[in-house]
Amino acid sequence: MGKKNLVWFRNDLRLHDNEMLVEAISKADEILPVYIFDPRQFEQTPYHSFKTGATRAKFLIESVSSLQQVLQQMGGNLLVLQGHPEELLPELVEKYELTEVYHHREVASEETAVSVKVEDALWKLKVNLKHFIGHTLYNKEDLPFPIKDIPDVFTQFKKKTERDAVVKPCFTTPTSITFVSLEDWGEIPELAELLQDPAASMLKIKTDFKGGEQEALAHLHEYLHAGEGMMLANATLKKHEIVSKLSAWLALGCLSPREVYWKMKEAEANYGVKPYFHQIILGLLWRDYYRFMFKKYGNTFFKPQGFRKDGFSLRLENTAALQNWKEGQTGQPLVDACMQELNTTGYINQIARQLVATYLVKELGLNWVLGAAYFEEQLIDYCPASNWGNWAAVAGVGNDQKLSNSFDFEKLLKFLDPKGTFAQVVRA
Ligand SMILES: Cc1cc2nc3c(=O)[nH]c(=O)nc-3n(C[C@H](O)[C@H](O)[C@H](O)COP(=O)(O)OP(=O)(O)OC[C@H]3O[C@@H](n4cnc5c(N)ncnc54)[C@H](O)[C@@H]3O)c2cc1C
Repeated sequence: MGKKNLVWFRNDLRLHDNEMLVEAISKADEILPVYIFDPRQFEQTPYHSFKTGATRAKFLIESVSSLQQVLQQMGGNLLVLQGHPEELLPELVEKYELTEVYHHREVASEETAVSVKVEDALWKLKVNLKHFIGHTLYNKEDLPFPIKDIPDVFTQFKKKTERDAVVKPCFTTPTSITFVSLEDWGEIPELAELLQDPAASMLKIKTDFKGGEQEALAHLHEYLHAGEGMMLANATLKKHEIVSKLSAWLALGCLSPREVYWKMKEAEANYGVKPYFHQIILGLLWRDYYRFMFKKYGNTFFKPQGFRKDGFSLRLENTAALQNWKEGQTGQPLVDACMQELNTTGYINQIARQLVATYLVKELGLNWVLGAAYFEEQLIDYCPASNWGNWAAVAGVGNDQKLSNSFDFEKLLKFLDPKGTFAQVVRA
């Protein structure tokens, strides 16, 4: 009997630059690709919010559908299930006599805990769970320092990494796959089936982002190749407004950071070095930095006191002030505009995120964890390391104290809206 490998897709919903998939194909005669909607990802949190709101859930459904369609075009399919991976994957292994299970390792505790449970359950069946690390621009083993010695100061991490590490080439996109044959490939759930917040399905989603690998690659192409015209046409654009808006696809792995890097290098060869190319790389380095910091420090980023040692704590109760902030009803016009934008589109840019986060922490005096948890629900590009890492920095409980001290609400306000014409600034 031939070897059959299960490929467990999670936040890696793509065919391009996917080492896990390439390896699984090369080591087996047949492949069973699987995606599992885990109800725990949609649950209520202890912080008066839900883990996934309507906008990101919709984007996730689109991304899974897109992967399914590509696999169907290759003559196969994607098995779509709902439930707990640690129960479903061993059942599949037994039922279809699978040889190994391939997956990408995550860095945050809830995701790694699921991997551990899956690994334990598979171990009882004497089946191996293979781990891959494909989420970062730089591979962990290519960094000029072991994880425990990665500098806490971002500028040092950036300087040394750019000087001493190389970005690996992308893995080739598979053009043919032999699939395990199944009768029932399951169904992608409707949005309302996934959402556990009764209020969420009433919301109007007004996002321009559409999930999926094809959309991601098209958006990247457009940004890199039409960008020059866009910059010339918008000579008034400020530095913080020149953003790629690639984050949602990067977060779900519809797009690989290495693909962004190498496509950007190609564009650079055509158009020369552009400041907005540099901006993307800077962003990707920040993204790597927070992921590696999570690897280094684990759960500290989720704790209200973070890296502080002075017993700092604030209450975690639901208050009118928190509710007003969430709804964009604080009375501070720019904060309110940003929050309303976030609530309807799932996206606001970096400075707008810093502004509303600083407002919650410094002006309202609320516990930052409540804000971070609300961002987790609302952001279309939510990823644990980037969200909780950035929030901890804004709240002054992060690992880089210099960075943590740099957030000032009035300065951010002036920077974002020097003439009081905020509606232009927060357009996404
Ligand atoms: C309070 C707060 C919460 C945040 N939560 C998230 C989150 O959950 N998910 C997320 O992807 N980003 C988060 N960010 C970082 C940043 O705001 C977004 O990545 C960025 O606004 C996405 O827009 P873009 O794709 O146009 O970014 P660009 O400026 O074009 O950057 C390119 C890519 O680099 C990455 N990136 C850029 N800046 C950062 C940063 N500071 N930290 C980590 N990655 C970065 C993103 O993947 C982004 O797509 C947060 C920032 C703050 C202040």
